Amino acid sequence: VIDAQGIGKSFGSQRVLRNVSLQLHKGEVVAVIGPSGSGKSTFLRCLNHLETIDEGSIAICGEMLATAQAGGHSVYAPEREARRICRHMGMVFQSFNLFPHMTVLQNIIEAPVQVQGVAREAATAKAETLLRKVGLLNKRDNYPARLSGGQKQRVAIARALAMEPDIMLFDEPTSALDPELTVEVLRTMRELAQEHMTMLVVTHEMGFAREVASRVVFMDEGQLVEQAPSHEFFANPRHPRSQAFLRQML
Ligand code: ATP
Ligand code: MG
Repeated sequence: VIDAQGIGKSFGSQRVLRNVSLQLHKGEVVAVIGPSGSGKSTFLRCLNHLETIDEGSIAICGEMLATAQAGGHSVYAPEREARRICRHMGMVFQSFNLFPHMTVLQNIIEAPVQVQGVAREAATAKAETLLRKVGLLNKRDNYPARLSGGQKQRVAIARALAMEPDIMLFDEPTSALDPELTVEVLRTMRELAQEHMTMLVVTHEMGFAREVASRVVFMDEGQLVEQAPSHEFFANPRHPRSQAFLRQML
C-alpha cells in the first residue's frame, strides 16, 4: 500500500535521504530503526507529504503522490489530491500535539466532523468506541493538560484512527515517555497490529521491533542500509553498521 522508490531529499547542501526505497504491504508492521539524524523522521514526513522530495516517487494505495527526477522536474499531485491521498494515512508523532483548548472527545471528532463531514453524533459514538479501545473512555471530557504523556499519546492514536486510515505511521511515539507510560502505548500499538492494521513505526524500542514488527528497516546516514524479517535481523544482522547499531542498543 506504500511504494516509495529511490527517494532523495536535501536540506540545502545536506543530503538527508539517498535513494531510499521501501514497500509496505497491507497488514504488514514494519519497524524503522537507526541512529539519531539518519533521516527516519524525514522519510516518514516525505511519505505523508509534510516534506517535498527531490528524487524518486511515492505511491500510496496505488495513487501517485509525487515523482521527482534528479535535476529538478518534480511532479506532485495537486494539493487537494495530495491531501486526499494522504488521508489513507494516520500519523502519530513523538510530541502528542493534541489541541490544548479542546477536550479529549473534541480532539477526536474534530477532523471527522470538519474534514470528512461526518455527523457529530456518529463521530461521537465512534470516538467513544475508540476511547474504550485505548482504555480512556473515562477521560472523554478532560483537557489534554490533565492527562499523562502515555494517556495523551493514546488519545493521539485514537484521533488518528477516527479518520479510518488504511495505514498508520508512527514516529517514535514512546520516546518522550517514562518507561511505565511507554508500556501502555506499546500495548495499544500491539493490539492494533493484532487487528492487522498496516503500520510503519519509527522506534527505539527494540523489543517492539523484534516482537511486533514483521520486518525491520535499518537506516543510517540517509540510506536504507538493510531490511530483513525482524527475527532474522535481530538474530543475524548482515551489515556491519546494523551490527554496530544493535550492539549499542541491546
Ligand atoms: P532522530 O532519531 O533523532 O529522530 P531521525 O533519523 O529522525 O533522527 P531526521 O529528523 O530525519 O533524523 O533528520 C535527518 C537530518 O536532517 C538531520 O541531520 C537533521 O538535522 C536534518 N533535518 C531534518 N529536518 C530538517 C529541516 N527542516 N531543515 C534542515 N535540516 C533538517
Ligand atoms: Mg526522528
